[in-house]
Amino acid sequence: MSLFSPRRYQAPFKPYRREESAPIRLFTSFEQVTKSALFGCRMCGNCILQETAFVCPMTCPKGLRNGLCGGATPEACEVDPTRPCTWYMIYERAEKLGREDRLLEINAPLDGSRVGNETWLDVGRLWRAQEERLNPLDFVRDKEKFSRSWDELFLNARQPDWWQGDSEYHPPAYTEPLSLLEANLRTGVFTTTAEIAPPLDASFAIEDRKVCCLQDYVVAANFTDSASATPRMSSMAASVHSLQEGLEPVMQLQARDRTRVAIASEAMGAAGLGIHNLLCLSGDHHSAGIGPMAKPDQFDLDAVQMLWILRRMRDEGIYLDGRKIKARPQWFLGTAASPFGAPPKYEAIRMHKKVNAGAQFVQTQPVFDHDRFLEWLEALDKRDLLDKVYILAGIIPLKSARAAHFMAEEVAGVYIPPEIVKRMDDAGDDKVAQQETGVAIALEIIEKLKNTAGINGMHVMAVHWEEIVPRLIDESGVPRPVIKDLAELKAVVA
Ligand code: SF4
Repeated sequence: MSLFSPRRYQAPFKPYRREESAPIRLFTSFEQVTKSALFGCRMCGNCILQETAFVCPMTCPKGLRNGLCGGATPEACEVDPTRPCTWYMIYERAEKLGREDRLLEINAPLDGSRVGNETWLDVGRLWRAQEERLNPLDFVRDKEKFSRSWDELFLNARQPDWWQGDSEYHPPAYTEPLSLLEANLRTGVFTTTAEIAPPLDASFAIEDRKVCCLQDYVVAANFTDSASATPRMSSMAASVHSLQEGLEPVMQLQARDRTRVAIASEAMGAAGLGIHNLLCLSGDHHSAGIGPMAKPDQFDLDAVQMLWILRRMRDEGIYLDGRKIKARPQWFLGTAASPFGAPPKYEAIRMHKKVNAGAQFVQTQPVFDHDRFLEWLEALDKRDLLDKVYILAGIIPLKSARAAHFMAEEVAGVYIPPEIVKRMDDAGDDKVAQQETGVAIALEIIEKLKNTAGINGMHVMAVHWEEIVPRLIDESGVPRPVIKDLAELKAVVA
């Protein structure tokens, strides 16, 4: 048990190779014992405690270093309900200590060569190299100078040259829309996307039926990436097939199960194959799966870091390792949002970071409570985000009372007000009556969203019920895609 952080979830790291110097090994052990007792330190070797109000982010089971996940609640961690959410503690303590401004800096992923090593000697080395060297006496003599030198010292320690994360917004460095989705959103017309789960087998027959059914109604279809840690055909394969069939894909790409190498490689492959919409996600934890659980800490990056890396590959033409990219990938970058997970002010911090890192569009968790959704939008507005990111509000038509209960009670980050669950119950045992009630509820929500300032469209997640999407679009009166052909893209910009 540590003094300042929740108890350690995973085993501490060890260096990937043995340090040759015995005194340094001894010093490292001393540092480990001290920091473990105070912060539950896992010796990640890439300390960002200054940015996280002195709560160690490595105690998050997903190892997230840039904010909470969509399933976090004030009560407990989504992955391990017996402990609090690390990031809740970070936000709460940052508020108490007046350090909220520090929560916006985009923190680097771990440098594997530093993992398991001491950091105090490293800080000492940086201190010696400082031009205006930090002097403890300045704490009394010249506080301003002291805090300037302090900030500079630790900024250099946590932001290595290969990362250089900051708290600034970086607008996309291109002008023409890269995809139909981007082109349609730019017209200002309410835009619809839908979700398709890739096939469970090696046949495209079912996907073909779904693509055919959605084609004239939505601008693009998302292909999920082994959601809930349960394997299906890859998002990339399903996306390429959809493209060939004439429906623009949004390829979901999650951090779970992939290193930074795999993510950059797959994203580049997608661009080469003509997939230009990427949805960057941290991903569900392995414990969400149905099979024997994989090694639990396979999150090399989080969604914020993915966006930071991919935006720089596109706009600056560089890989994370600094290699130049000749033909730059063309991605319209998106991410997910969870308006009902944590309090809006916390969710807005996470969204602010994602937008600064490179998110251009966001698809939200399903909206069942419009008033609470407005609170989240207001929190984004306060941070001046609404004109920097396109927002597609999530819609799930409830197919049955059972589905309503399941989502309300089991799915993290989804909130269904009790009156909506009751309406589904009141529909009785008849399957069709339940479906009709689900459609009526969805249409009521769409009607409100259509007239909500700051909303650019909707993302319909009618997984295994895709045939309902055309009806929702027709009956709600939301427009079908305005621009349907990639050849029209240039005309839109001109
Ligand atoms: S709820 Fe999510 S962000 Fe919070 S500690 Fe658990 S895994 Fe990490």
